[in-house]
Amino acid sequence: MNGLQVFEKQQAYYRTGATRSLEFRQGQLAKLRKVIEEREAAIMQALREDLNRSEKEAFLLEIGLVYKEISFMQKHLKRWMKPAKVKTAFTHIGSKGYIVPEPLGTALIIAPWNYPFQLAIAPLVGAIAAGNTSVLKPSELSPAVSEVMSSLIQDTFDPAYITVMEGGVEVSKELLDLPFDKIFFTGSVNVGKQVMAAAAKHLTPVTLELGGKSPAIVHHDANLKLAAKRVAFGKFINAGQTCIAPDYVLVHRSVKEPFIELLHKSVTKFYGKDPLEHPDYGRIISGRHFQRLCDFLQNGEITIGGRADEMSQRIEPTVLTAVDWSMPVMQEEIFGPILPVLIYDELQEAIDLINARPKPLALYLFSDNQAIQKRVTEAVPFGGGCINDTLMHLATPYLPFGGVGESGTGAYHGEESFRTFSHMKSVLKQTTKFDFAFRYPSAKGGLAII
Ligand code: NAD
Repeated sequence: MNGLQVFEKQQAYYRTGATRSLEFRQGQLAKLRKVIEEREAAIMQALREDLNRSEKEAFLLEIGLVYKEISFMQKHLKRWMKPAKVKTAFTHIGSKGYIVPEPLGTALIIAPWNYPFQLAIAPLVGAIAAGNTSVLKPSELSPAVSEVMSSLIQDTFDPAYITVMEGGVEVSKELLDLPFDKIFFTGSVNVGKQVMAAAAKHLTPVTLELGGKSPAIVHHDANLKLAAKRVAFGKFINAGQTCIAPDYVLVHRSVKEPFIELLHKSVTKFYGKDPLEHPDYGRIISGRHFQRLCDFLQNGEITIGGRADEMSQRIEPTVLTAVDWSMPVMQEEIFGPILPVLIYDELQEAIDLINARPKPLALYLFSDNQAIQKRVTEAVPFGGGCINDTLMHLATPYLPFGGVGESGTGAYHGEESFRTFSHMKSVLKQTTKFDFAFRYPSAKGGLAII
């Protein structure tokens, strides 16, 4: 089936109303969980093939996160689906107001390659919970995971309800021409702009989960040991190919040396003395990305790491110093295991530097001072982030996850996923027991009892 045929089939199925009941949605969530459980080994194998992801990380960052999303939906869905009563305004006495969540219809989910399972299936969980039908387009750069997902979905769901359409840009473009009821896109800022332009033709609502340069600030009062450990964790996991990885660090001049020393210790502890030999250290997804990252190694000075192995497409966890904003490494999202460390003297300098650039997807602040935590949180716009940690804000269904400005629009996870794929329909139920005459054009006023 081509894109149009799939779309038309899904629209027809959606119109039957089959996807709307709580029982149906719960049933599909349970089916999805079961098939993932059955095929865990195949998913892990595919992640190993595409990204050299270890089994532990595959569970932690992909499969486990999806289970958590599914359980959260299963637990709360009944309550979220109920029409919510709202207050009645004084001017509306006698009436009742409700917000009725309804599915949007047929959703298109376009996924990237860096967490290829989780970033496709977690939005799908939201689309199922909200009662939609869905077309999933995985990334062509993670073909093993794409194939596993495709057969998993095909063996479990009617294609009129959920279908995977594998392929590259041309498949994506074909799908984007269709009048979907929702587009959920995860990927780069540039492609995000094209997705939004395509959606505008049909006025299709979009959620755009994009990227950019997410900073980490390490202030002089931070617990440096923990800061170094958590920055190294967030940056070098998946070889830096994480949308919310700290892209660069702004460190207070007085703690730069000890911070870098501790970073080095953490890297050695995580990946050994020779990370290129570590069996579970991630690989760069493609030759093109590998070359792009190797070019960054010419910027500034290499303080930690810096070696690369073309055969295995791996680059050591690397720290660059003496970089400035005119260098290519500071002008685009790095998306690899290269961490520039820049210095500031006054916190305001760091804030101004970040605010002079597009609003980041994430921000990480390391400081034990509550006044500083409040100041940075309020002074810098960013999608989401952590104080004294990295990445972990993504892994809880209680926090909506998304960007702002260039780093994205809309959010998901937990209840926000349900809302993202729903329309919140406002309904006013008016009384027929009495009527106000003054609202009508020729009325003199007063209350008319019916
Ligand atoms: P990408 O934008 O190149 O591709 C994403 C998807 O879009 C793929 O499925 C691809 O086939 C499709 N695509 C590519 N070009 C297209 C075009 N011209 N028209 C239509 N579709 C097209 O992104 P990527 O390289 O797969 O992923 C890396 C980027 O994604 C980084 O910028 C990263 O920060 C971002 N990202 C964001 C999040 C988030 O949750 N905010 C998560 C992961 C990755």
